[in-house]
Amino acid sequence: MNDDLCWQAVQDRDATQDGRFYYGVLTTGVYCRPSCTSRRPLRRNVRFYVTPAAAQADGLRPCKRCRPLQQRADSRTVERMLEVCRYLEAHTQEAPDLDALAALAHMSPFHLQRRFKAVIGISPKQYQDALRLRGLRQELRAGAPVTRAIQDAGYGSASRAYAKLATHLGMTPRQYRAGGDGIAISYASATTALGRMMIGATDRGLCFVQFDVDDARLLQRLRAEYPGARLSPMDAAAGAAFAAWMDALDAHLSRGQPLPELPLDLRGTAFQMKVWNFLCTIPSGEVRSYTEVAAAIGRPRAVRAVASACAANRVGVLVPCHRVIRGDGGLGGYKWGLERKRALLDHERAQVAGSRPGA
Ligand SMILES: [Zn+2]
Repeated sequence: MNDDLCWQAVQDRDATQDGRFYYGVLTTGVYCRPSCTSRRPLRRNVRFYVTPAAAQADGLRPCKRCRPLQQRADSRTVERMLEVCRYLEAHTQEAPDLDALAALAHMSPFHLQRRFKAVIGISPKQYQDALRLRGLRQELRAGAPVTRAIQDAGYGSASRAYAKLATHLGMTPRQYRAGGDGIAISYASATTALGRMMIGATDRGLCFVQFDVDDARLLQRLRAEYPGARLSPMDAAAGAAFAAWMDALDAHLSRGQPLPELPLDLRGTAFQMKVWNFLCTIPSGEVRSYTEVAAAIGRPRAVRAVASACAANRVGVLVPCHRVIRGDGGLGGYKWGLERKRALLDHERAQVAGSRPGA
């Protein structure tokens, strides 16, 4: 989606673009089809969305004139689905109760799922995730500590799914960053089973998880990875919550406890992001070769570039570059030493074997 082309289509009231995107007007709180005949808004008040769901989750309501949802269903169904939206908006702290939603919409849970998806564009669960995500962003922009914001937004625990959600909802990285001013990283360190570990976080999530012999070296690494960032030690308030993250990470490293779901803030080239995102899909206890990763991301000849992207990973363990090994079974390299790579893989294999029935 290209903002300039979208804006041109809005100015032209281009009906051929209906259904391809929606525009929201922040001043009126309404979203429209490109062809809407209402007065044209000022560019600076407009945002573009790929799905109605994205606009809804941003707090916008369907325009009464162009009725952007009507091309997807009859008005009665649309009304009912909007009622479901309102219910979800009032209940972001609880998991969606499908039976309650179905009763509200006067249909079976099965049909509710299908109709909701057809009209709004995503499932009720995804819609609720989007609402939480929005709440989270608002709190973070308002300067709340990341962990409190995560709680307040209705996430029982921070979910790394939220990075994915942004893509699902069609928000561009630029939109996502709007309101952010450069990058500030706070850091803390602890001793783990794999040695001294430092984590660094932005207001979006963890951007740095690395190991070294002492804090001075770790801080050097952090500076080298983010030369333009403002670095500061975590304050006491945030420190307590981060200590809990650290404990969860350490439980994983020392006892093979399941890897905690933590929000990540990955910054890299398009290629690196592709590789890192793929790494996050390799299940614990399994490995892939560099060649397999290259093939999986549709760049079969870019094996060396995949290895470089693994080496450029700044968020150890959580972006599991340790699960990539050489095609011949050799461990390959590891930014934080082969001993750590071997230990991580051993833990993960043992954990998977232990959880198998009969094992
Ligand atoms: Zn409209």
